[in-house]
Amino acid sequence: MSRNAYIAQQREAHGRKAVAVLPIHYPKELLTALGVLAVEMWGPPGAPRGDGAGRIQAYVCSVVRNAMAFLGSGGADAVDGVLFPHTCDSIQGLATLAPDFGGWGKEAFTFLHPKGPERPSARLYLDGELRSLARRLEVFTGRTLDDARLAGAIRLHAEIDAARAGLLDARQGLAVGDPELYALLRRGEWLWPEEHLAELREFRRRFPDGSGRAGVPVLVSGYVPEPPSLLRILNDAGAWVAADDFAAVVRRVVRRVPTAADPWNALQERYWAAPPCSTRSADPDARVNHVLGLLDRSGARGAILQVVKFCEPELFDVPLLRRAFAARGVPVLYLEGELEAELSGQTVTRIEAFVEMLAAGRAA
Ligand code: SF4
Repeated sequence: MSRNAYIAQQREAHGRKAVAVLPIHYPKELLTALGVLAVEMWGPPGAPRGDGAGRIQAYVCSVVRNAMAFLGSGGADAVDGVLFPHTCDSIQGLATLAPDFGGWGKEAFTFLHPKGPERPSARLYLDGELRSLARRLEVFTGRTLDDARLAGAIRLHAEIDAARAGLLDARQGLAVGDPELYALLRRGEWLWPEEHLAELREFRRRFPDGSGRAGVPVLVSGYVPEPPSLLRILNDAGAWVAADDFAAVVRRVVRRVPTAADPWNALQERYWAAPPCSTRSADPDARVNHVLGLLDRSGARGAILQVVKFCEPELFDVPLLRRAFAARGVPVLYLEGELEAELSGQTVTRIEAFVEMLAAGRAA
């Protein structure tokens, strides 16, 4: 079923409004609690689907340029609103431009999450932002957000994260390739959460622990696993993703179960417990240590850094990660792209050569 058909089905069957959500971090629990379907927009990939991209400077990333083109050309007409998290200056710019130039006449929401480490002022700020977004969503949906509803949504998302973490931790033994695993995980970007949880559990039943993956284990740190053929190309070359640090995937899996009885505090707990991410201005040492921890636990023999061109938050961390890998003698393959629909032949060759080098145990 296409996303538009799914949005229509959710509206007809459950009376749910739909909101397109720009990357990356947002309180999905609030949307779920108020019966709003979140449909995330990571681009979309490929060539811009309209001339709206021309309204954005050429030195802005393809995620924002493509989103502007998509919104401006009516690509998101099926949704009722758009949510712009405070991911970076580029998305903030889009949040300003899209309502003027998008021509879609939809509700525009923002979520300005705090940057930097947890501290009293940031907690206070986050509380205000969460409650402000909740109030706007209440008006938007005509529903009231009570504590029981919010607590139920938080429990549901904690269960989803536990199921996702379970799959990711078990991936070495799963008898499936990376394309299938990531396709499943990424369906959570637009499915109604209960349906996504059911799919995750069914997938785990269908693919119990097997005999283990063959090939060279690698770590991939990047933004979003696009194009999906990247994973197939890696598998075909003889490597598999033993650990990932994709912003779209692992950086949003919260492993700590909230303990606070008050759901607003529990929401805060989940926000602060998320893995380090460049777009939350994580402490650079914490981010590097986190990625090295992934490397150590997974036994990855090399690292692929996949960066979206002109992505400032990610590019700030690249030198730190490179230095940390170099200090460990871990070979690194650096890939920079613009959300292309397919990888170039040159990139495929570089991936194949990198995997061959790792398999032979040679240094980069
Ligand atoms: S790719 Fe980077 S610059 Fe572009 S929207 Fe995402 S975080 Fe912002």
